[in-house]
Amino acid sequence: MGTLPRQSGFASNGSPVLFAGFISNLSRKNKTDRITGLFNKMVYSEEAQRLLSHRADTPLTIMQLGLDDFKHINDFYDRSFGDEILRISAQRIMSLLPENAEVYRLDGDEFGILISGAQPQELLGIYTKLQTAFDQQMIYEGRRYYCTLSCGCATYPQDAENFLELVKAAGYALEQAKLNGKNRIEFFTRQILARKIRSLGIIEKMRESIVQNYAGFFLMYQPQVSVTTGQWTGLEALARWNKEPYGLVPPNEFIPLLEESGMISQVGRWIFFQACQKCADWSALAPTLTMSINLSYMQLMEPGFIDYMQQTLAKTQADPRRIIVEMTESVIASRAHSLEHLFQRIHDLGLRIAMDDFGTGYSSLEMLKKMPADIVKIDRAFVHGVNASNFDESFIQFIVAICHKVNIEVCAEGVETEAEFQILYPMNVDMIQGYYFGKPMEEEAIERHLRTMRQKASAQESSVTE
Ligand code: C2E
Ligand code: CA
Ligand code: CA
Repeated sequence: MGTLPRQSGFASNGSPVLFAGFISNLSRKNKTDRITGLFNKMVYSEEAQRLLSHRADTPLTIMQLGLDDFKHINDFYDRSFGDEILRISAQRIMSLLPENAEVYRLDGDEFGILISGAQPQELLGIYTKLQTAFDQQMIYEGRRYYCTLSCGCATYPQDAENFLELVKAAGYALEQAKLNGKNRIEFFTRQILARKIRSLGIIEKMRESIVQNYAGFFLMYQPQVSVTTGQWTGLEALARWNKEPYGLVPPNEFIPLLEESGMISQVGRWIFFQACQKCADWSALAPTLTMSINLSYMQLMEPGFIDYMQQTLAKTQADPRRIIVEMTESVIASRAHSLEHLFQRIHDLGLRIAMDDFGTGYSSLEMLKKMPADIVKIDRAFVHGVNASNFDESFIQFIVAICHKVNIEVCAEGVETEAEFQILYPMNVDMIQGYYFGKPMEEEAIERHLRTMRQKASAQESSVTE
């Protein structure tokens, strides 16, 4: 060995003198999650099945935890920061659990807790501790974040007969917790199961509708009225779906299901096409009438959607200056940086952009500064009862003042009463949309109104020229 040049790494007989590498315990590696260090889903399943078979007479609860809006953290910062937050969250959860509970990393932003023989009160106590720990702004590496925790609970044997069913039940309960506003716990119930079955059924039927050339889908149109003239300035296209055995299902229910199932991409294109078509059809009756079309975030992110918009405008001959796309403020806020380019392309097509449900998101004013919206739609929540709320009145006044300074038009949504209108009237809001001036109407009713208006206008014109 003495004559061997040290750097060569090989003995004179050609065999290596040194091996470099990692010694890893394969079985441990396959059991723990790389990011959080927690046991993974596989161990979770094995352990649950072991508990179920060995202690079948003891109730076993799964508490399925989900970080709320975790994707915002990934979007605002980056994935590696997101990974760090997952790691910190895992530690925090672990440190707050009692002896008889164990936490595992599941998919994405979810964790699973297994706990044997616990009463609902105890489960609630565990969740409350976790909830309190997560419900506050945190700082990591100088970056602020806020990420609450939702929980779905299901217990064997009352909610499920085996592990797979138990996992499903806890998952449904977690989904319900998120639907009910997040940052809360839900215990699995028969109603939750019934809702899930309904959602799955609706998704299937909507799939059928799409295959049948969108049978069951249609649009209603709600007028937007100029505050100064009282005339219709535009319409908002609102999607409807009506199919047996469900009947008319509200968009607040079916749009999220279209998003969840990815079908929003097809249906959204269909909606966009129909609305542009109508805008073009009605332009002879009302040449300046605008058409507002709602877009979900998923549509916007879909490759080729902007091209589709362009093709649709060409095909339907709709005037781009009459088309307004509405996006909710929360969508805009969460994806601000990736949307800038898309907004530019939308503007390049000649369309206008409205920020929908303004005031309900958490960074409305910041968004107003960053995003080149042409119209702001003040959410119903501020308009409803504005005649009795000093705060809402001042809020609207303030938004109108800011928007007008930078040439953004303001539409107040959800005006239902004369009293609300009387408060809004002197505030210089540009447009009003609400039941007070008109509910969403079917195509035929809109057309009738436009014809009547047209006839009145021509009668006036001819009386002036006579
Ligand atoms: P949105 O975009 O905020 O639409 C306005 C909703 O407020 C409509 O409900 C409308 O009927 C309702 N509304 C208007 N005026 C009043 C009022 O004075 N009082 C009350 N209480 N409500 C009023 P709708 O049609 O049920 O739609 C609900 C939501 O569904 C929409 O909220 C929008 O977020 C979504 N949506 C509807 N159509 C589409 C669509 O084509 N695409 C997408 N992505 N979402 C849609
Ligand atoms: Ca809207
Ligand atoms: Ca709205």
